[in-house]
Amino acid sequence: MAGWRTPFPPITINSKATCWPTPSRLPERHERFHSMFFDPRSVRPSPGLFIGGRRVVGAETRQVASPSDFSIRLDAGWASQGQVDEAVMSARHAWKDSGWGTMAPRDRANILYRFADLVDAHSAEIAALEAIASARIYSEAMARDVKVVSGTLRFFGEYADKVEGQVTATSRSSLSMVVHEPYGVVAAIAPWNFPLILAAWKFAPALAAGNAVVLKPSELTPFATLRLAELAVEAGVPQGIFNVINGDGNAGSALVKHSEVDYVTFTGSSATGSRIMADAAMSGLKPVSLELGGKGPQVVFADAPDIERLAQTVARGITYNSGQVCFAGSRLVVERSVADRFIDLVADAMTGLKPGETWSKETSIPPIINEKQIERIDSIVRDSVSDGAEILIGGSRIDHDTALFFQPTVLRGVTTENRAYREEIFGPVLAVQEFEDFDEAIALANHPDYGLTASVHTADITRAFKAAQRIESGTVWLNDWGRRTDLTAPFGGYKKSGIGKDMGRAGYEKYLKSKAIWLELGE
Ligand code: NAD
Repeated sequence: MAGWRTPFPPITINSKATCWPTPSRLPERHERFHSMFFDPRSVRPSPGLFIGGRRVVGAETRQVASPSDFSIRLDAGWASQGQVDEAVMSARHAWKDSGWGTMAPRDRANILYRFADLVDAHSAEIAALEAIASARIYSEAMARDVKVVSGTLRFFGEYADKVEGQVTATSRSSLSMVVHEPYGVVAAIAPWNFPLILAAWKFAPALAAGNAVVLKPSELTPFATLRLAELAVEAGVPQGIFNVINGDGNAGSALVKHSEVDYVTFTGSSATGSRIMADAAMSGLKPVSLELGGKGPQVVFADAPDIERLAQTVARGITYNSGQVCFAGSRLVVERSVADRFIDLVADAMTGLKPGETWSKETSIPPIINEKQIERIDSIVRDSVSDGAEILIGGSRIDHDTALFFQPTVLRGVTTENRAYREEIFGPVLAVQEFEDFDEAIALANHPDYGLTASVHTADITRAFKAAQRIESGTVWLNDWGRRTDLTAPFGGYKKSGIGKDMGRAGYEKYLKSKAIWLELGE
């Protein structure tokens, strides 16, 4: 390798193997490498599961196709029901025996800080593992996702010794205290759209609060979180406290129903959330928290400031990650007097985006995760058009040999009967509706099923606040859209968008149960 220059640094895939681009292929592909963050064929994630503090071979090996190039197929371990049981029991025993839940919270915090430092130190490797199997563009995974993981570990590490109990206001003849205790074994189930971030929102607070975790990432995106579990052990998290199993809904369901699981935390679709709630209720009445789908409105009043810039924000709100975002601003609800001009500006801002691989430096719109998902987007657009909606831009798949892309699409004249209004599309499709006055704006903003996020854009601060009060949604952004890297506020939905919160203080406290302790003092 001496004297041979590569256009990008090596990627360390696990502690034992550092992968360089395949030398024999480099010369003829040299030009292409300049436009790539890494050579995808050099990324070979180790297949497996992580149980009891070590990598374990899955009962089966299945292939995961890279969404950016279906010809790249990666082996992933698949857990049997027995291995789900093994992971839960390993978590149970570690939780009982390792002292993780009973150690001084400051010691736990220090371990999580070390974990965060290791994540930062391995950011290039983790981002590549994320980009190879998901729709996350490498540069975004580096600049945002990996940093959110380490930031979330530090944020919740700080809570470990700062959430106190309470002495209640009893009569002088008794003393009553409320103390907090971890649940024990937390089952965490995550989706594919932001695999790292959404897993960290769960395991970081659950670990900080003193629980053991069995994480099941999406079967479509199993690799990056597996690597995190190894780093946890390297940082000092006791073996068995953080386990990762891979598999589909059957593995998820076995995990939820396991009698040794004490709490279930889930992010995914509303349909799966309902099943999980039913399963948790029927298998020991476990508490659940559910982060589910969204159908976020962008409410634009005629006096909204700087509408050129706002059009860019609205466009980004539906094209970011190709619209595969739970808090996508997927509905534009715009005041009729400015609708024509504003919709034109948004449509302009949505054109010219470059579809491409997650490892390409030129990509601004990543692939749709799989055929099932793009077929769903396509069918919702087709049904909405046959029910009267008009396509202003886009409306169909982009021809491509090795990946699936959908054109950024604007549908005007969407009615409350159209599927584009009623259903979460999870693609770059903006459904436009128009209003005459404030009450109509609020009526349209309030979706019958979903209430995850909403945005209101107006120069009138009183109107903005009144709208925020009346919109039925867990988050309302005023003159803004999108989650910041700030972790302080809780995130979670109303209606079928969820139960409970991730992040913020609420996202920590949910992993603790409270106990009242009474001491009778006498007169
Ligand atoms: P999904 O519901 O299909 O799957 C999510 C996870 O649940 C996967 O790991 C899957 O294997 C597992 N699963 C499937 N069936 C199960 C069962 N019966 N029991 C236990 N686990 C089961 O969702 P998805 O397609 O991976 O993700 C997209 C969805 O996630 C969208 O609806 C999106 O809005 C939602 N989401 C919500 C948030 C939020 O914070 N509210 C964030 C991101 C994504």
